[in-house]
Amino acid sequence: MVAVTSSWTEPSNTATALLLLGRGADPASERGVDCPGDLPAPSDPDLVARAAAAKSALGGRVFVLGHHYQRDEVIRFADVTGDSFKLAREAAARPEAEFIVFCGVHFMAESADILTSPEQRVVLPDLAAGCSMADMAVLGQVETAWEQFQDLGLVDEIVPVTYMNSSADIKGFVGRNGGVVCTSSNAERALTWSFERGSKVLFLPDQHLGRNTAVLQLGFSLDDCVLYDPHKPNGGLTERQLRDAKMILWRGHCSVHGRFTIDSVREVRERVPGVNVLVHPECRHDVVRAADLVGSTEYIIKALDAAPAGSSWAVGTELNLVRRMALAHPDKQIMFLDRTVCYCSTMNRIDLPHLVWVLEELVAGRVPNQIVVDPATARDARVALDRMLALP
Ligand code: SF4
Repeated sequence: MVAVTSSWTEPSNTATALLLLGRGADPASERGVDCPGDLPAPSDPDLVARAAAAKSALGGRVFVLGHHYQRDEVIRFADVTGDSFKLAREAAARPEAEFIVFCGVHFMAESADILTSPEQRVVLPDLAAGCSMADMAVLGQVETAWEQFQDLGLVDEIVPVTYMNSSADIKGFVGRNGGVVCTSSNAERALTWSFERGSKVLFLPDQHLGRNTAVLQLGFSLDDCVLYDPHKPNGGLTERQLRDAKMILWRGHCSVHGRFTIDSVREVRERVPGVNVLVHPECRHDVVRAADLVGSTEYIIKALDAAPAGSSWAVGTELNLVRRMALAHPDKQIMFLDRTVCYCSTMNRIDLPHLVWVLEELVAGRVPNQIVVDPATARDARVALDRMLALP
């Protein structure tokens, strides 16, 4: 374990620190259902030894992936860590692994299932580990919006683009309709590709990534962007607004990154002279504009790794990662952008008891919580993912 350094200050708890998602909800949604397993008690002092023993018994048959936002107790058992796209590619690069244990959230495990061979089985340690952002774009809603665009004679002009953080259903829809998947690292390239094929983009499901990329990287104005609210008739937009828009942004956001505000940026600049503010592009537009640097999770890690000793950083992304980076770089002052806790509650559902449970089940010859994308959806989603992989 890494020792706690004096430079790290834990943000204070808030009543909404762990946004309660994923309890007994629709199994067809990203929220999944409660874990059905006979989990070991969190207080079991042998959990670390049990996880190590089960992983060792499985040997090369299992490959454990750990998303950067996972808890330290889980990350220590990961064979590789990364963001969602890197992890899906890592899974695809291990055809010899019979089981892929994905310590992340549901849409990530789906992408791994799409990109791995049919013989490999992808396991999510807790089925309730969904993503609130992915849940904000449901296939039926998107199809309804598309029909509206069809009625207005707009679909031939619109290229659908979905962020990696979306369900396999949505990636399949995008693949069927000439669109592409993007990540926070390649959103600019994906939008450029799309505007070579149409005059408008429907961007799913993260309005902030779509807006930030269109305005700050492609030079569109805020007036070129409209917000499509699936809970309002016609998305809450007039025909004129839809016809004039370049970017039709789906009304979705990340519950974690959406919590950072412009006040957090102002407050930290006053409190820490010379601080560098580094945020993820899932943050709100005003926050991103006020930051010094903006980039994906991998970009944030590289920027902090490369920062000079003695420099100060306020980082707007998930707390587990920021804390880990602060502890790994005691020579730099790395702090959380907000004064209060901001975990991804669904990521945090994957804890050591769940990991021990799935590993021991696999040792016993049972495959718990397997994530399977139906072949037709997987085929269409693969088209959209392959277009992303082929982006210049
Ligand atoms: S951090 Fe945000 S986008 Fe990522 S899994 Fe959590 S809710 Fe979803």
